[in-house]
Amino acid sequence: MNRTAVILDGYVDEPACLGVPPYISPYIRTVAGALIAHGFSPQYLTIDQLRNEPLRTADLNKARLFVMIAGVTVPGKYLGGTPATLTEIQQIGHMVRGPKKVIGGPIGFGYSGEGGQKAVRQVISGFDALLTGEPAIALDNYLTENDPAGLLDYARTDQWSIAGSGIIAQHPDFPYVMCELETARGCSHGATGGCSFCTEPFYGMPRYRTIPAITAEVAALHRHGARHFRVGRQPDILAYGAGSGEYPAPEPEKLDALFGGIRAAAPGLATLHIDNTNPATIARHEDAAREALRAIIRHHTSGDVAAFGMETADPAVVAANNLKAQEDEVFRAIEIVNEEGGKRRDNVPELLPGLNFVCSLAGETEKTYDLNEQFLDRVLKAGLLVRRVNIRQVMPFEGTRVYTHNTLGKHERRFRQFKEFVRNRIDLPMLQRVFPVGTVLKDVRIEVEGDLSFGRQPGSYPILVGLPLRLPLRTVTDAVVVDWGMRSVTALPVPVRINDLPASAIRWLPGVGKKKVAAVIAKRPFTDLAAYRKVAGNSAIDASMMF
Ligand code: SF4
Repeated sequence: MNRTAVILDGYVDEPACLGVPPYISPYIRTVAGALIAHGFSPQYLTIDQLRNEPLRTADLNKARLFVMIAGVTVPGKYLGGTPATLTEIQQIGHMVRGPKKVIGGPIGFGYSGEGGQKAVRQVISGFDALLTGEPAIALDNYLTENDPAGLLDYARTDQWSIAGSGIIAQHPDFPYVMCELETARGCSHGATGGCSFCTEPFYGMPRYRTIPAITAEVAALHRHGARHFRVGRQPDILAYGAGSGEYPAPEPEKLDALFGGIRAAAPGLATLHIDNTNPATIARHEDAAREALRAIIRHHTSGDVAAFGMETADPAVVAANNLKAQEDEVFRAIEIVNEEGGKRRDNVPELLPGLNFVCSLAGETEKTYDLNEQFLDRVLKAGLLVRRVNIRQVMPFEGTRVYTHNTLGKHERRFRQFKEFVRNRIDLPMLQRVFPVGTVLKDVRIEVEGDLSFGRQPGSYPILVGLPLRLPLRTVTDAVVVDWGMRSVTALPVPVRINDLPASAIRWLPGVGKKKVAAVIAKRPFTDLAAYRKVAGNSAIDASMMF
């Protein structure tokens, strides 16, 4: 009997979960496991693969079961893929004719095309069932009792996460696929209703996976070839396994056991990063947070980012939206992460904070933007490092307070000015501090091909690297920073083969620029660094050169 089940990954992005390539979300892996438990042979396809090869719809028709996972509840722009739109989802639902068709994931919370627009819950046509609740559990219930609903239960999903781990080998980015790991679901700040815009409180109060369950999944993923991991599916990694209360204190020994256990389960891992970290947890429990950060740094890989949901520096907006942290708490948390994580290893800081701002929240005024800018100026003047500043307009979901209480459309001009301010006045000096000229970035993988190729390192919020050379897609190279763009760095492959580089690349060399390109080319080939220096002078990238 035909037991093929196709999983179509329309990609997910939630406040505490990323599944846009090169990331693969835990939903895909647990759904694959549930399918295997029902005797299916799961095949995996991404929405981008289907867009590029529409004839693959014929393969979908031959399957017995078709499961789509999709839904974006935070607005974002992605280099690695484009999430399925509602129109595409419905078209696919109608086009695929052979198998039973089900769809699950955060799409069940609603759909919006972009930030600044309301996400409305609507009927998704073309499918036999909408999997509500936890996709893998709802699928299991659907296959056993024809009931496409079910809440998260780690006692059931943990075994499927192991059984389904082999699905990663079908991901187009394999072996560079980034496995998003789940450690917890739900948010303790939900005790007072949660932040006005956030969908994570829909999952209830925090539930934590056990360390043996997480490490067993990591071991299975590693056996199947996974080398890149992000512990990203939780609202606050420092609260892992913590007690009750709205802002529980970190328990460093649990983080040490968790991250040490992941290392032991995946001895060949190349990336181990984190994501969301609540700045209020750090500011309110400074000593425990420092110990917890040290535990993570002991076991992770460098270039890591602790993303702070700051949202605003305006106390009035914090109060109006029940946000988790005040401006001074965020500032203190930035200082502490800099003190614990600012040291460099493999050329880059161990762990830096990232800042997320959300605009158009209730209570926002023009002054809110002044306060945001003053806050970022203060961070810059204090000499602190921040890896990235992310600015979004809220995407209000039905069931959140921001759905009815927001300031969308009221401060558009000031919003755009704020973005400009950050790009021009904050991003560039921060990049210059974090990635000075001469920094060698390891394992940059090319994701966009062209005369100017773009790549990134595997990781949490990796810097975009522009290389002024045509490099084949998926090439992996070390690269040395030679300049900075607004939100990217310009770099050249290491070793820098000065005698082979085209003029378009030579002009980026420090000390060369447009003026000396002709002189450098005229004097080639250089036999050693001394000969090159006579033309271009000394520079921070000399150690990366080859003659
Ligand atoms: S602290 Fe706020 S933003 Fe973070 S997960 Fe909880 S409700 Fe969402």
